Amino acid sequence: MTSTIGKVYLVGAGPGDPDLITVKGLRLLQHADVVIYDRLAPKALLTHVPNGAELIDASKDGHQHTLKQPEINALLVQKAKEGKQVVRLKGGDPFVFGRGAEEALYCHAAGVPFEIVPGVTSAIAVPAYAGVSVTHRDYASAFTVFTGHENPNKPANILDFEAIAHAAKAGTLVMLMGATYLQDLIRHLITSGIDPQTPAMCIEWGTVPQQRVVTAPLVDLPERAKADNIGSPAITVIGEVVHLREQGLRWFD
Ligand code: SAH
Repeated sequence: MTSTIGKVYLVGAGPGDPDLITVKGLRLLQHADVVIYDRLAPKALLTHVPNGAELIDASKDGHQHTLKQPEINALLVQKAKEGKQVVRLKGGDPFVFGRGAEEALYCHAAGVPFEIVPGVTSAIAVPAYAGVSVTHRDYASAFTVFTGHENPNKPANILDFEAIAHAAKAGTLVMLMGATYLQDLIRHLITSGIDPQTPAMCIEWGTVPQQRVVTAPLVDLPERAKADNIGSPAITVIGEVVHLREQGLRWFD
């Protein structure tokens, strides 16, 4: 018996507001046989999936993984080999700290065809919903996106704080996944040369109605974020562009 092989679509769901998925991503959801979705993919999008389609929650919460990455990879391949159209729905963009490349390479190695459907990344859209443009002719001619996921005190930490502090001279810094180690991360950035008075902000649950924003000079941000109980998911923006919010760009919250 021969069966036609299905396909895996790595679809960016956008940062939270369900309307920020692409037209292509939405169309694929409407025709999916299987949807494997992450914690940060807006749940409202699942209402577009046809009746009878299989919904699999792959959400990861801290260290309590519902499904481990190798299990997700294996599932994608297995479902596609059953002939299914598989949508792998990921928060933001699949290739921005989303492990999308790992999943696509796993499909490639298994001979399963795949497509990438880019999404609106939180790195740009969450600041935008908080009234901040990551570039601006007068303030920032570059922006640098980096992960604060790792404990900065670990000897094997991969972050090059000197390089990041240097990049701050050219423009905006956008840190993802930095809520847990915020205090240590910012201390490292300041000792690496960033002006402690640089405008900074944390945005929690951006682009959705419960969005919260805390703004402070960089050196004070960890304390302010802690006082307001800012937790994951949150984005930290560092740079002069933070002032744009109070200059009139605030529109959503
Ligand atoms: N691929 C995603 C990022 C995945 S990493 C993208 O392109 O957006 C997960 C991190 O993204 C979170 O820890 C947080 O830093 C950020 N993030 C995603 N959605 C967010 C939201 N609605 N509000 C604030 N931060 C968000």
